[in-house]
Parts: sequence; C-alpha cells; structure tokens
Amino acid sequence: MSEDHTLQADVSLRPLNTFGVEARAAWLLTVPASGTLPEALADPRIVGLPLMCIGDGSNLLLVGDFPGVVLRQASTGLAVLEDDDTGAHVRADAAVGWDGFVDWSIAQGLAGLENLALIPGRVGAAPIQNIGAYGTEIDEFITTVEAWDRNAGRSVRLSSADCGFTYRDSRFKHELDRWIVTALELRLPRLREPRLDYPGVREELGSLANPSTAEIAAAIRRIRRRKLPDPSVIGNAGSFFKNPIVPTDVAVALIAANPGLPSYAAGTPERRKLSAAWLIEACGWRGRRERDAGVSSRHALVVVNHGNATGAELLALARRVAESVRARFGVELVPEPRIVGADVVRG
Ligand SMILES: Cc1cc2nc3c(=O)[nH]c(=O)nc-3n(C[C@H](O)[C@H](O)[C@H](O)COP(=O)(O)OP(=O)(O)OC[C@H]3O[C@@H](n4cnc5c(N)ncnc54)[C@H](O)[C@@H]3O)c2cc1C
Repeated sequence: MSEDHTLQADVSLRPLNTFGVEARAAWLLTVPASGTLPEALADPRIVGLPLMCIGDGSNLLLVGDFPGVVLRQASTGLAVLEDDDTGAHVRADAAVGWDGFVDWSIAQGLAGLENLALIPGRVGAAPIQNIGAYGTEIDEFITTVEAWDRNAGRSVRLSSADCGFTYRDSRFKHELDRWIVTALELRLPRLREPRLDYPGVREELGSLANPSTAEIAAAIRRIRRRKLPDPSVIGNAGSFFKNPIVPTDVAVALIAANPGLPSYAAGTPERRKLSAAWLIEACGWRGRRERDAGVSSRHALVVVNHGNATGAELLALARRVAESVRARFGVELVPEPRIVGADVVRG
C-alpha cells in the first residue's frame, strides 16, 4: 500500500542547502519511499505551481524565496539488474546518497566510480550537471535516466544520448521545470584502467603500484578533504564556477601572456579548458572576505559563507569575482550551481 506524501507550507530551506543560507519555500513536498510521485504531484494544493527538486542542496545558491513546491524524494533502492564477467548493469533510486553509492559499487566488485568518491549530494542530481572529478564524468557510465516528464505527465526512460551530457551540463540543466529524475541505471565494468593522471592522485597513492578501486577512492577522499572546505564547517557549494572553455588560439595567447596558467583538453582541438581557480587566484581573490561572504582560503574556486551571509551577498561577491576575471583576462566565468530566486543567466 502506498504511504501518503507530506506537504508542509512556508518551510525554511536553510537546513536543505550546503551554503546554509536562509530562504523559504511556499511548499515542501516529501514523497516517501513507498509513496507514488504522480499521486503526490496531483495534490490539489500544489497543482500548477512551479516545482524544484532538491537533493542535499549542495549545488544550489538560494538568493530568494521559492514561490512554489520544493520536492524531496525518499526512495533509496539499489539493485544489480544484470551481472556478467565483464561488469554489471545497476540501478539506484534518486535519494540514494552519492558517496554511499560509490562505496556500494566498489563492494559489488565494480569499477568506474572511484574517482567520483566524496562528491556530496544524491544520485538524482548526478545527471543534472553530469558530475565529474579527477578525470571521470558520470555520463561515461549512465545508460538510462528514469524521470517523470512534467510536460507529458508520465514516466520516461531517457537514454544517455537523450540527456545531452557535456562538461558540467545536460539537457536537464536547461529544462529545469520539466524533469524529475527518479532513478539512474549505469553499466559499470569489473575492470578498468585506473585514471591516475589528474594532478596529485599518483602522489597520494604513494608506493601502491596497482591500486584497487577502493584504494583509489580512499586516496581521492583524502585529497578532497585536504583541498576543499567541508560544508558542515563552512557553508559552500564546491566549485562556484565552471572551468571556462575558450578557442585554442585565445588559450595560447593567454598562456603566453600568463605563464603557468593551466589548460586542459576540451574534447576538440579547436578549444581548450582553462583553470578558473588560477584566473581567480591571479586576481587576488583567494581567502578574501567581505562581511560573511568570501572566497575560500583553501581553494579559489569555492565561494564560502563564513556564517550569516545572505544568498544575495554571496551572489554579489561571485559577480565581482567574475567581473575582475573578465576585466583582466577577457574570459567569462559561468556559475556551476543553480541560482534560485535571482534574475541571472543559469550556469
Ligand atoms: C564541497 C563540495 C564539493 C563538490 N564537488 C563536486 C565535484 O567534484 N564535482 C561535481 O560535479 N560537483 C561537485 N559538487 C556539487 C554537488 O555536489 C553536485 O552537483 C551534486 O550532484 C549535487 O547533488 P544534490 O543532491 O546536493 O543536488 P541539489 O543541490 O539539491 O540540486 C542540484 C540541482 O539538481 C536538481 N535536482 C536535484 N535532484 C533532482 C532530481 N531528482 N530530479 C531533477 N533535478 C534534480 C536541483 O533542482 C538543482 O538544479 C560539490 C559540492 C560541494 C559542496
């Protein structure tokens, strides 16, 4: 039997975002594991209102109140759908914690997710910005995104090709009002050449010549704990800007003028990805603080809330960071988190 959803009016979102900023939702809808999404969405109190899914709020900047429904799902099912010698086809519900999913996959003897260890958040948000870290992006493994299509009013299964995955982007990020991701299916291999080329990973593994997936995940977690501020200690949403992708001739000219500016492959020889952290640090922002809004002293790409910053203060600071990078280098920085309640171009 399906359990009823809960619907609360005028709810503080402060505990539901890792920046720890205050904003209110007109409604908070929670669909329990045994409930059904269509029934919950048909609740007459909320029909026709704008809707925003939320996981752990680790990629959100709330600049104003949300005048509609904030939706939390609670299903945390995990399953191996098919298993053979080379790998397995697995399924995870949207509310499964991402890092726990990484550990579960490793415990099944599967590889692929180890470089994505310790990314905060839930499985349902992973495809939204095609999460990536240390040389791996999740689109490499996603076979199907199960989602509720609010336009059509039905459940759909989207193939990876349907999802428009690119660097920290997908069709979901551009059609935010349309999709509610309910589960992911992934094909994970049993064996995979370890990806250790990202700066710092080999060094962290030290003398381990043939590290296991569990050892790689542990090394990635240690690096991340050192490099990134912990949101439970100081509010943040990880990288605030994407690394900018520019035409290769622009990158070559910038690197000639600024020796040491790191650049990376961007999928095509015509373009290069630049280090946003380097550009921001060169503008003197690392560790700077304006009232309670600041740039992390650990990592120039991370905007932090030292205590009681508002979303508007954090956004204003981020805009000043982007303006100074534009003025000095002529490069546009695009925000990575979803910015809610402000008249901005979404990252
Ligand atoms: C310290 C720190 C480090 C981070 N490091 C990384 C990193 O290395 N790589 C990386 O890619 N990201 C990183 N992030 C960003 C963040 O962890 C990821 O984007 C994560 O996937 C967000 O998950 P969430 O559940 O918190 O999503 P939320 O912040 O709650 O939501 C993010 C977006 O997804 C949408 N959404 C959430 N759930 C659903 C759903 N079920 N259906 C449809 N839309 C949904 C939301 O509406 C919103 O637009 C980091 C964040 C922090 C705080």
